[in-house]
Amino acid sequence: MTEPAKPDSRFAAKVFPSPNHGERKGRDGAPGRRPDMLVLHYTGMPDAGEALQWLCNPIAQVSAHYFVFENGHTLQLVPEGRRAWHAGTSHWAGETDINSCSIGIEIANPGHPGGLPDFPEEQIATTLNLCRDICERWSVPPERVLAHSDIAPGRKIDPGEKFPWQRFAEGGVGLWSEPAPIRGGRYFARGDAGQPVEALQAMFAMLGYGVAVDGIYDEKLEAVVAAFQRHWRPEKVDGVADSSTITTLRDLLAATQSARTA
Ligand SMILES: [Zn+2]
Repeated sequence: MTEPAKPDSRFAAKVFPSPNHGERKGRDGAPGRRPDMLVLHYTGMPDAGEALQWLCNPIAQVSAHYFVFENGHTLQLVPEGRRAWHAGTSHWAGETDINSCSIGIEIANPGHPGGLPDFPEEQIATTLNLCRDICERWSVPPERVLAHSDIAPGRKIDPGEKFPWQRFAEGGVGLWSEPAPIRGGRYFARGDAGQPVEALQAMFAMLGYGVAVDGIYDEKLEAVVAAFQRHWRPEKVDGVADSSTITTLRDLLAATQSARTA
């Protein structure tokens, strides 16, 4: 008789196994990459139970390490040492096999298709505890606590602009800088080109976004700007690089630098 598996985090009530995982691989393909990134998702389905079943269905070929219900009840679907299949085609800070380097959490919420309801307090409190625990045990740096939309802009918009990133940062999880107020002034948008756009792209790339530095403000850059806003300037998500967005990005890069040298 085997012991029932115990969750890796004390904030998960129990293991509810998904078969959808594999071996973590390093950049050179060698096994055993340690996770040093945390990626947050919403399920985007009306019913949490159905979302959970889907993440555990071998046909789905998707999963996450943890699943957090609206009431905060939390299950572990995949062991942290294994490579869960939550990121899909993604990019951050030069890496494309995000599943190999990250831990993924699915937060039950109907998402944008369901009108983006608020995340209930019990759910947020538990998710924050879980995230803090993971970041401490794996030494995840603040600038590597990310939204699915950050690593797959243009393809994903979860966990959405209502996710309380500021509260998480105040609770020791992730990076935050007070967003600069939205005012008029110069801005860049789709169709623009040239050196200022290139400089903007370089800043996004420095933060970690997978963005070409070619001086062209196209649909892809617009998606990156929207992803950035969704996470760090949630008041207005429009893909336009206004002065508030650019200032917030600059402040955040400064905060990242000081976090790295701290
Ligand atoms: Zn997602």
